[in-house]
Amino acid sequence: MPITRRYNYSLRSHNTFGLDVKASQFITYDTVDELITILKEVCDKHQHILHIGCGSNLLFTKDFDGTVLHSNIKFIEYVSRSNQEIIVRAGSGVVWDDFCAAMAQQNHYGCENLSYIPGEVGAAAVQNIGAYGVEVETIIKEVETIEIATGQPRVFQVEECEYGYRDSIFKNSLKGQYIVTAVVFSLSATPVVNLDYGQLKDLRSLAQMPTAQEIRDAVIAIRKSKLPEPSQLGSAGSFFKNPVVPAELFRNLALSYNEIPHFVINESEVKIPAAWLIEQCGLKGKCYGGAAVYEKQPLIIVNKCHATPAHIMQLASLIQKSVRDKFNINIYPEVNYI
Ligand SMILES: Cc1cc2nc3c(=O)[nH]c(=O)nc-3n(C[C@H](O)[C@H](O)[C@H](O)COP(=O)(O)OP(=O)(O)OC[C@H]3O[C@@H](n4cnc5c(N)ncnc54)[C@H](O)[C@@H]3O)c2cc1C
Repeated sequence: MPITRRYNYSLRSHNTFGLDVKASQFITYDTVDELITILKEVCDKHQHILHIGCGSNLLFTKDFDGTVLHSNIKFIEYVSRSNQEIIVRAGSGVVWDDFCAAMAQQNHYGCENLSYIPGEVGAAAVQNIGAYGVEVETIIKEVETIEIATGQPRVFQVEECEYGYRDSIFKNSLKGQYIVTAVVFSLSATPVVNLDYGQLKDLRSLAQMPTAQEIRDAVIAIRKSKLPEPSQLGSAGSFFKNPVVPAELFRNLALSYNEIPHFVINESEVKIPAAWLIEQCGLKGKCYGGAAVYEKQPLIIVNKCHATPAHIMQLASLIQKSVRDKFNINIYPEVNYI
């Protein structure tokens, strides 16, 4: 398919909240050359640009007055293979879980714990997606991009991406400046597994080391039992990041809540699950308009019944205020407000 342009276009099927917001212009492209052509045209007209993947981490707060771009660059190719390391390159428009499925099928290790996370390869490198003890930065080698202002290619080595918890240089100092066109991954040909998380620990008792496919299957089963399926119930996954608090604040809280779940980051900082804080505020199932706190996982806000952007934003603010009032802890959205 060549470049396609649509005007005054509904993004309902391009955001997993299912919000019926419109973009002035929506353009999809298949190749890097097409992207460069589009960027020149859009920049010459001084239009706002937003590049999206599947819209699984976006909250459109209103119609988007500008051009929304979407990549259809879809390929998975081997760069090199040895008995140890597999270097593989994938286009930004490849569905992330299709990539994980292909790698698990070949028994290449590295992304099996990240199976079934919604979204596309390009966004995975922007977001530094993570699940079950693994973050995608651990398997990324290079991120290929095009600079929006100049149309020039630039390859970022993983060390240049400034990866952190659900964070990267593309969300901070270079936000809105580069479009990811492909990502180069380094996977392992031999089992390198992380089975430390929750129900994945059960796989440790198998007589043999589980295959990448077996781990993937287990991850998918866990996710399906806990998380809303975007096609059935709109959401953007975890709405808030888990807060990192001073150790002293944590110690004070632990005096009143001795069962408080936590993860010690270092001597002075402790991470607390935002889901626990929200649940302690009695907000599980709380509704505002058509938006609701998901019953099974209070970190998720769902579009229960024709929610509007305002319903979701109001509910998110109410949650933040409740957590601040009760625990003196600020929680911040993981979801990108647009
Ligand atoms: C049910 C559910 C479960 C989830 N579980 C997890 C989880 O376990 N772990 C986790 O980390 N996340 C999770 N998420 C969040 C989401 O899946 C990830 O953030 C994902 O990487 C978003 O991908 P996307 O293609 O939908 O990107 P979008 O939401 O469309 O975009 C996300 C950001 O990336 C930018 N972007 C997208 N494509 C490009 C590109 N090619 N170049 C430059 N910038 C780009 C966008 O501008 C935006 O800033 C979940 C979401 C849902 C709905």
